[in-house]
Amino acid sequence: MKRGFLNSRAAKEKPIGAPPVAAVNSKDVVNEASSRVVLDESAFKSTIDLMRNQLSRRCKSDQNSKALQRILYIYRAVPNFADEPEQNTQCLWYPETYELLSKTPGFPQRLPPAASPPAFRVAPSPGKGMGLFSTRKITQGEMIFSERPLLLQPAPTMVITPNGLDAAEEAKWRLNEQERYAAKCVQRMTPHQQAAFMGLHNFNPNDRTGPIFGRIRTNGIGLYGLESGIEGDKGVYAAVCDNISRLNHSCSPNTCPRFDRASFSYWLYAVRDIAEGEELTYQYSDVLVSKVERNEETEKYGFACMCAACKEPTAESDKRRSEIAASVPSVLTWAMDWGLPDDWLIKKAIRLLVLLQKENIQHVEAYSTATHAILEAYICLGDSKNASKWAARAIQQTWSELYHERLQELLDPQSQAYEGHVLWRMRVDKSPRNEVFKAMGTVCRPEGIGILDGGRKLTFTADEGVLPGTLEKVLATVAPAMNDAKFKQLATG
Ligand SMILES: [Zn+2]
Repeated sequence: MKRGFLNSRAAKEKPIGAPPVAAVNSKDVVNEASSRVVLDESAFKSTIDLMRNQLSRRCKSDQNSKALQRILYIYRAVPNFADEPEQNTQCLWYPETYELLSKTPGFPQRLPPAASPPAFRVAPSPGKGMGLFSTRKITQGEMIFSERPLLLQPAPTMVITPNGLDAAEEAKWRLNEQERYAAKCVQRMTPHQQAAFMGLHNFNPNDRTGPIFGRIRTNGIGLYGLESGIEGDKGVYAAVCDNISRLNHSCSPNTCPRFDRASFSYWLYAVRDIAEGEELTYQYSDVLVSKVERNEETEKYGFACMCAACKEPTAESDKRRSEIAASVPSVLTWAMDWGLPDDWLIKKAIRLLVLLQKENIQHVEAYSTATHAILEAYICLGDSKNASKWAARAIQQTWSELYHERLQELLDPQSQAYEGHVLWRMRVDKSPRNEVFKAMGTVCRPEGIGILDGGRKLTFTADEGVLPGTLEKVLATVAPAMNDAKFKQLATG
């Protein structure tokens, strides 16, 4: 089964969430486990251009390509606990990546304790090679298991080619070099890890890709956010895991992996209840496109998807997925527009949840966005009774980046957390804090106001084109409102 470095919208959207562990803050979690990545020539070209710039930045005077390569990449075992050699990831990466990682609070952390007996097993999946299956009933939001990748390397890896090669020779050179770089990572693994890596599928062993790079291309999961200064697909790493890489694709998957930086591991979550014996699946590519487009993507992985949504495709399903892909309005877009009815956002979000439920795609960002929109809409309306019901649903969405420990405090309708929430009774009261929202909305627009820490903090970002200093001036004009001590505390953290 081919997996690669996928240049999909889903990969960019990165639907993920924070783990349900107090010690790990959501901001320390890299939310990039959404998709496989397809390694192709166009990705190579743009990345190589970018890396050339980096090279010249890093080593202005030294034009020796071997020296440049040494500067560009380093090999490292992470996190390298002496008593757990089998739990290390062999990394080929930029020196800056380790610097960035080492600043992660809590890094390096041990893996969470593994469930005993495990909630999954590896077994043949008819028509798909091997797959993962549940060994018991798993509930929505449960972490099924965690694991560190066997290998991590840039996707694609920058290769320096000698001058004077024609296109075919250059392509061959690159493939050989990719294989050489990757082979070194594998050589550094323990024998057990090497056996696990080589036991993974290589979807096209007969093309010119070598056996190691072929496995990375087949099984690599896109991991973003570890290369500072390089955004999106150009800064992506490919992670290869013993188990998570064996998950088969579904256009309605039942799991979502997330990467936890502190423990340098993927945490696999159930995004809905899973029956005993059910195959565990996730998305290799964007599922919010039509069946035809989805199948074009899975063809790149060398298979035709036979999931329920593809086996009996309907025009309604395509329509629903396309409607889901349109984003949910933010709570502030509605809350700050007094011309809209009080139930406007709730109705919109409930419709979206119905569509998501019909398509069985709870792992996508829209599922959590809609749930949180309803929760926050009820907070704006001062209805803690209904809000608490939606907090109970939001707290199950552990895989979502919107997941927050503070949801726990909102489970009780009598909780003081409601009064302390920045949105509390925003649509009901003419309170000083609402005056601040109104004033800041004129320079920030709702999209520029961020609600952080589960409603404890606000951030304001001025709209493009707003003159420097305007934000401060507006704040000064609403200074009396800011004297509302409780609000001031909320707004400044
Ligand atoms: Zn499908």
